[in-house]
Amino acid sequence: IPEDMGISEDMLKKTMEHPCYNCAGHKNARIHLPVAPACNVQCNYCVRKFDCPNESRPGVTSSILTPEEALERYKIVKAKLPNLTVVGIAGPGDSLADNYPQVKRTLELIREYDKDVTFCLSTNGLMLPFYAKELVSLGVTHITVTMSAVDPKISGKIYQYVKYMGGIYEGDAAGAIMVSNQLSGLRLLLAEGIICKVNIVTLKGINEQHIPEVVRTCKEMGVYITNIMQMVPVKGSAFENLPLVSNLEIGKLRTECGTIMKQMLHCRQCRADAIGTLDNDLSLDLAGFTVEEKR
Ligand code: SF4
Ligand code: SF4
Repeated sequence: IPEDMGISEDMLKKTMEHPCYNCAGHKNARIHLPVAPACNVQCNYCVRKFDCPNESRPGVTSSILTPEEALERYKIVKAKLPNLTVVGIAGPGDSLADNYPQVKRTLELIREYDKDVTFCLSTNGLMLPFYAKELVSLGVTHITVTMSAVDPKISGKIYQYVKYMGGIYEGDAAGAIMVSNQLSGLRLLLAEGIICKVNIVTLKGINEQHIPEVVRTCKEMGVYITNIMQMVPVKGSAFENLPLVSNLEIGKLRTECGTIMKQMLHCRQCRADAIGTLDNDLSLDLAGFTVEEKR
């Protein structure tokens, strides 16, 4: 961890124990609680009936839990996995969209039960300026924002539409809202000492040349780590036929951007209900508690 980041001792400990923020944390387990099915944007690579591919691999739709069910799941899994150190909210939609009250309640219930577990959350960043302070007071210490461009014109090509403050925006206007809110939300979090990760989805012909600029922007702001990801092609999405960048190209981008700042190289693009260590997903074994489909 770069010394100049000024991370507090407590945050450092949590970060070292977080399997996604530090390789040294690989023995620790995390649980994703799928309490947020709604989304406020439409990414061109996403089909909503699957998990949010910004953070989670699509393929199996997660069951949606109520906050009370999420607490029950946490209690059961915690009893079975003593190495569980992180509770994450990763959709399956966006954590800060219409289901945010359920996200908030889930975190409150778990914090009443467990004072120490690390809270981690991922978002597309649209509503981050509104909720950043509240997330800090809820005890969330690690936040991932998917921000695949910092140029509104490029960002505008990623979203089919953005629903914001009663309006629906497309193209450059959508891109301008997203970039502005992602950056200002990140700045608010970073000012509070939150450890931030930025996911960057590599989209051939759209942002691959622009990614080093995204990473430089993250570095300048004080983001802890960036995660350059492959797009997960989803049948039926607008980018269904967009060619993928090769693994070699992703590798080159990561190497180039690794000279700018720390890169995540071990993301598994986990499900929104993932449980266990990154190497051993136990969600199918352990998540058979609550299965009401509410999407
Ligand atoms: Fe899909 Fe996630 Fe984008 Fe929402 S933020 S449209 S769930 S990829
Ligand atoms: Fe960690 Fe990536 Fe899985 Fe999120 S999707 S829990 S960042 S490995």
